[in-house]
Amino acid sequence: MKIKIDEIPLEGLSLDISEEGSSLAAIKDTLGFTVIGTVDGHLEIGKVGAEFAIIDGNLTATIATECSRCLRPIETEHSIVFKETLLLSADGAGGGEGKERELSIHDMDYTVMEEGELDTADIISAQIAEMVSGKPLCKESCKGLCHGCGKDLNEGLCYCVGPDGIDKRFAKLKGLKLK
Ligand SMILES: [Zn+2]
Ligand SMILES: [Zn+2]
Repeated sequence: MKIKIDEIPLEGLSLDISEEGSSLAAIKDTLGFTVIGTVDGHLEIGKVGAEFAIIDGNLTATIATECSRCLRPIETEHSIVFKETLLLSADGAGGGEGKERELSIHDMDYTVMEEGELDTADIISAQIAEMVSGKPLCKESCKGLCHGCGKDLNEGLCYCVGPDGIDKRFAKLKGLKLK
C-alpha cells in the first residue's frame, strides 16, 4: 500500500495492514525466504512537522525458510513491535548537508522517502528482515547434517558415526600402524 506523505493528516494515521506475502518479492530475492499467507499488523503513522514521520507498528508473519543445521524446510511465525523514524525528504532536515548526516548517525534510524510516498511494503520488508535475522532452527536440539556423508542425523546415525558416537573414520585411522 502506498501512502502519499501529503495526505497524512496532522493528527496521524492509524492503519490496519494485511499485505499478501507473495507481493513482497524483494524479500525472496534479497533474503532467500518466503512469507506464507499475509503479513498482518497495525501501523500508527505520526508526522513531526513536515520533515519526519514516526511509525509505531506491529507485525505478525509466517516465514518459510530452512533449518540452518539440517536444511529441512520449516515454517515459523514471528511477531515484531517496532518504532521507526522516517525522514520524509532527502533535503528536508534543514541545515547543511554535513549537519544532516550527523543527525542520521547519532540520533536517528531513518529511511529517506522518495517521491513523497511511503510504501508500506518497504516498511514490512525491512521489519521482516529484522525478524528473521539469526539462524533459524527446526528445533533447538537439531542435530544437523553429518559433515562426512550429509545424512540428516535427526533421522538416526550414519555410517560415519557409530552407535557409540565415535567417528569411524577416525577409529580406522587409529588402527593404522605407522611403520
Ligand atoms: Zn534442523
Ligand atoms: Zn555420515
